[in-house]
Amino acid sequence: MNVIENAVAGKRYVSTGRRVPVFNPATGEVSAELPLSTLSELNDAVASSKKAQVAWGNTPPMKRARVMFKFKALLDQYADDLAREISREHGKVHDDALGEVARGIDCVDFACGIPQLLKGEFSRNVGPSIDSYSDRQPLGVVAGITPFNFPAMVPMWMYPAAIACGNAFILKPSERDPSAPMLAWNLFMEAGLPEGILNVVHGDKEMVDGILDHPDIKAVSFVGSTPIAEYVYQRGTKAGKRVQALGGAKNHMVILPDADLDQVADALMGAGYGSAGERCMAISVAVPVGKETGDALVAKLKPRVESLKIGPATDKDAEMGPVVTKIHRDKIVGYIDAGVEQGADLVVDGRGFSLQGYEGGYYVGGTLFDNVTPEMTIYKEEIFGPVLSVVRAETYDAAVKLINEHEYGNGTAIFTRDGDAAREFADKIEVGMVGINVPIPVPVAYHSFGGWKRSLFGDHSIYGPEGVHFYTRLKTVTTRWPAGIKGGAEFSFPSVK
Ligand code: NAD
Repeated sequence: MNVIENAVAGKRYVSTGRRVPVFNPATGEVSAELPLSTLSELNDAVASSKKAQVAWGNTPPMKRARVMFKFKALLDQYADDLAREISREHGKVHDDALGEVARGIDCVDFACGIPQLLKGEFSRNVGPSIDSYSDRQPLGVVAGITPFNFPAMVPMWMYPAAIACGNAFILKPSERDPSAPMLAWNLFMEAGLPEGILNVVHGDKEMVDGILDHPDIKAVSFVGSTPIAEYVYQRGTKAGKRVQALGGAKNHMVILPDADLDQVADALMGAGYGSAGERCMAISVAVPVGKETGDALVAKLKPRVESLKIGPATDKDAEMGPVVTKIHRDKIVGYIDAGVEQGADLVVDGRGFSLQGYEGGYYVGGTLFDNVTPEMTIYKEEIFGPVLSVVRAETYDAAVKLINEHEYGNGTAIFTRDGDAAREFADKIEVGMVGINVPIPVPVAYHSFGGWKRSLFGDHSIYGPEGVHFYTRLKTVTTRWPAGIKGGAEFSFPSVK
């Protein structure tokens, strides 16, 4: 049995902690054992990071960036292997996993240019012989806690930027698919990263609490579900840390009557069922405006959903894989049951889907509901599975109101040929990331990612320029030269006279 190690102070070793199984969701078999790191191993990790960070924080940013360039080259070289690790434990199909790796590499690419963003500002003669400059300095040791759905990319939303800014980083990946982040760790070390600058510890709530309470960890980035994001934000900020905690989502796509419905149906297939709906930017609610639009859309979606190709990542034709665990599959099926009980029209039923030769796998077939209403559980809660709900709106205003009243505000999209409506939508919608004729508007690595409302706790979005701000603190220095100017004691508040 493959036993997954943790990585502390430049060494990989098998933790002495309690063990949990890691599954291959395509078959339902146990693929590895994961020993959860102990709190004493966390203390060792933080101590090694704290020690190493002093020199790393003082290393010229260009020298740090050179390690990042090598890391990027190695990631390019091993992208296929990383994608295979992701698929084996997460279940997503190979091309989708490769896409994840590519978006992670984009963040490393961005981090190669971070020296440019660490530059401060300088003002000469702010007072007599007085100059002033500002500087962005690293925080020290920072940590990241990540979800199962992007085991390679979401950690790379965090540690490349943090490390390029001069911090040391403690990563706690999801315990459901920890192998991809371990492979990335190997590559980073091969690129020449000093020991202790990136440590990986494994664990569940106990480890998360250990991180949140550790006095030497100065900031925590979290990505996961909303209840845990809120908990992490509250406990972390109470302990005096800077926290950014990204949570769950319910992303709506508004379809106006003038939209090209074939384009819309294709976009909804990818955005609703890609990665089995296990994306925080997945579209889980389609909002056609007007009865005709709704009828035509459902008619176009039904055959597409029925003919979705579902299979293991090893099947090159598969468009969608299994969901991550048996518990998660049962939860999704429970949501479909609730939708039926509460009166939604089940157009395509994915319950009971089984694949010959893979009967033990955690598959759910593509599911489509029509006439879903805002009171229903399947509308209110994040399902995180291949279930698309059609909520019909009579008018554009009703569609906007629906979205603005939802507790989540991660992503949204509108499909239309009407520029006025699109601009108004982008302006008024209370959601952090908006797509106009773009179904999954995940910002590129040199912008920043973040939702509104209960999809993000904290003041900073993640990666890009916001990531640099999150992982640094501003210092402003005011200096007088020559030093020997004497003017006597001055009791009024310093100002330019
Ligand atoms: P999760 O909240 O269950 O787990 C996330 C992390 O928190 C994991 O590392 C896990 O070990 C830890 N954790 C789990 N339970 C905990 C507890 N009780 N106390 C402390 N820590 C705990 O999320 P998940 O199921 O791994 O991922 C799916 C969720 O992540 C979805 O809700 C999805 O929308 C969200 N997500 C959000 C974004 C975003 O950018 N907003 C991106 C990806 C995923």
